Parts: sequence; C-alpha cells; structure tokens
Amino acid sequence: MSLRSFLEQMDRTSKVLHVNDKLSTRFEIPFIMRNFDRGPVLLFGEPRGYSASIVANVCGSRTRISEALGIRKNDIYSKLIEAWRSPRRPSIAEDGPVKEVTESPDLSKIPILTHFEKDAGPYVTSAVVHAKSHDGRIENVSVHRFQVLDKTRLVIRMVPRHLFKLWQMARNANQDLELSISIGVHPAVILAASSPVPFGVSEFDVANTLMGNSLRLVKCEHVDACAPADSELVLEGKILPKEDAAEGPFVDITGTYDSVRRQPVVEVIGFTHRHNYLYQAILPSGFEHRLLMGIPREALIWESVSKVVPTVHTVNLSSGGSGWLHALMSIEKQVEGDGKNALLAAFAAHPSLKHAVVVDADINIHNTSDVEWAIATRFQASDDLIIIKNSRGSTLDSSADQETGLTTKVGIDATRPLTKPREKFERAIIPANKKVEEIIRRLDM
Ligand code: MN
Repeated sequence: MSLRSFLEQMDRTSKVLHVNDKLSTRFEIPFIMRNFDRGPVLLFGEPRGYSASIVANVCGSRTRISEALGIRKNDIYSKLIEAWRSPRRPSIAEDGPVKEVTESPDLSKIPILTHFEKDAGPYVTSAVVHAKSHDGRIENVSVHRFQVLDKTRLVIRMVPRHLFKLWQMARNANQDLELSISIGVHPAVILAASSPVPFGVSEFDVANTLMGNSLRLVKCEHVDACAPADSELVLEGKILPKEDAAEGPFVDITGTYDSVRRQPVVEVIGFTHRHNYLYQAILPSGFEHRLLMGIPREALIWESVSKVVPTVHTVNLSSGGSGWLHALMSIEKQVEGDGKNALLAAFAAHPSLKHAVVVDADINIHNTSDVEWAIATRFQASDDLIIIKNSRGSTLDSSADQETGLTTKVGIDATRPLTKPREKFERAIIPANKKVEEIIRRLDM
C-alpha cells in the first residue's frame, strides 16, 4: 500500500484528471485545485520550471479515503478507533523505494506551491513529520506546514502539541531536534498522523494497523528518524535550538489568513526521493484539508457521544464550519435530554468545537439545508439552546480572543421533543412505486 499504488488504482477507474498544461506553481495550480475542490484526483504533469509532477486532491472525498483504507464509508470511525487502540510496530529496513535517488538538498527544485494572494511564500502542506525524543524513548508523527525560507531552510508551524513537546525536551538538553519530513504518503499515513492519540504513541504504529500491518519504514541517512519506505520524497532535517523566523501570513483551514508568528527553523540536510517522484499538494482550507483534519475528530466525537446516548448515527464536522469548528450529529433519541447530553459530550471530545447541532436520525447531516430544516421545525431556543461563555476554543476562529483562545460555545438541540405528538414532526412523503421510479431513472439520464 503506497500513494503510487493507490493512484494507479484511481487512474484505472478514471478518477484522476490529468492536467498537462505548463502551469505556474505560484497561484495557477492552486487556482485549478480550488476549482476542482471536491472533485477528482489531479495530476499536474508539467508544472512550469520543474521536472517533478504534482499530485493533488488525493483524499478529496470520504469515498476516496475509505477506498484507500479498503473499507466501507460507514466503517471509517470504528476502523480508526480500532487502530488508535491497537498500534503495531511497522518493520524498519535500511533501504526502500524512497532512497532510489539521493540529491543534495535544494528546495528550489521541488515544485512547492504558493497558494493565496497574501501568503508569505511557497508552503509545503502535506508534510508528515517524524521525530524522537533525544533519549529515543518517545516517537511522534504529525502533519505540519512549512514555509520555504531559502534552498535549505524551512520554518515550521508548531502548535503546542506533541512535536512541540519533543522540541522543548531537546532544547532543555541543548540539542537539535532531528526529524524526517515525508511527502507523498499513503492516505492511511496522513490520517494516522492527524489522529489524536496520546503522547508516546507513534502514529506510524497507528498507520501500520490501519494498513493491515503492511507499512514499511526506512531509516534516514543523516538523522535519527524514519520515513515510510514508499514515500515519494523525504527531507531530513534538524530544528536548531535557538533560531527562529517569521512564519506567515498563511491561509489555514478556515480560509482566512493566520497571524504571523516567530517559529522554529528547520535546516534541511538530506534529500532522497523515488525516480520521477510526485510532489503531493493539499490546498489549505480546501475540502480535502477539512476532511483530513476533521475525520479523526469526528471519530473522537462519535465515540464520546456514543457513551452518553445509545445510538449515534453520524457526525459531520461540516465544511462550512471549516471541518473544525462546527459539528453536526444525528442520534436515535431515547429519552428527553439525550440531545443536550450529546452536545456536552461533543464539546468535551473536541476542544476547538464552537457550534454543535444535534438532530434525529431522519435528518441527513451531510445536507446543511436538511439540518436547517430540523432547526426550523424542531428547535425552540428558550428550551433547546446551550450557551457556554469563556471556554477554550480555537484561535483559527478570527472571532475568538486571539490571545487566549477564549470563545463562546453554542449547542443547538434540534431533536424532536418526545413530549409532543410524533406526527407533528414527521416529514411528509409521497408514496412511490416501481413505475414512477422507472420513469425517474429514465428522465434522469
Ligand atoms: Mn502524537
């Protein structure tokens, strides 16, 4: 299981759009990507000025992600949760496809995109980072954005999570933090790297379970880190203990510009890749970005809400909520109050969550108009609204306090009240038969 084998599978079933025009990596390719958001995989054969091709939109739909994992769309949460619970060490070899070509590092030869008008410059957006604690006991794999500073230096955006902790530990020991940056990996690896597993669990082990124990890693040449053996390219680098640089502006998941901050600098000291490597691009704030960040959180919310109400059908961190700030959930309500408990469980499971809506199972939560209909016909603000002031949210939300991250959270219980007659809330249907269904199929063609 590699990105390449998955792309071949997608290409055989005509799910890859080949774009062979000479396009600039600055705005032109991102513009096409934006236009095909939610669309097919995109393969840009000949970006202007580069010899490597660019692949985009690999994980651009829920269907494609489940196909990559070899499962049905409905099984994605249970599959993820199972992998979080039972991580397995992948095998580690000295050699693998990603070491076919060794070059001296020169970031200007890699077709790294400049996406939005006011972005600070070219940004790597699909980077899977592996690092170990300096005593070798703890490993972490996570996805980070990197702004290109020059031919061998990048600035990494590091929110205070696991990699940040490893970096602090290295700094306290006055050591560099060595890391590998893998680009062009199988979707399971990116999903695992975006997963909220505890500090100390290697997300490569989670990926390996997701991939049915078929992940193979290779040891890096210059640093104490590993990379998937089938990655398209790997940059080896180290974070210097005392150097930082301005990072941003850059468009993040909400589609607005994130603030400029001083962030650590990575010195790239090694570069290996496959023959004719594909550079993988992810459009910031695109549907794919929102899915990859959102799906692991959806699984977490699904699990948390499942503990307080008997049946949770689906969770959707909706694209309109940037795949991060809004949760839509459908449940099988048993008793009055289930809706509110579901809302509280969702807020507990995903601290960045700002607005949550819970509806009955007859509502399609992937159709926001349907959710709005439930709010219109089943919700009374005086009884069904929860407002929680001054709680911790996400600074990605421009309206939250940008210093403290404090925000107001709102829960909307749009489930049908069990105390009132069921018929009042029933969605009217028109009876169908074979004849009319046949006619509809013909007219649809
Ligand atoms: Mn981690």
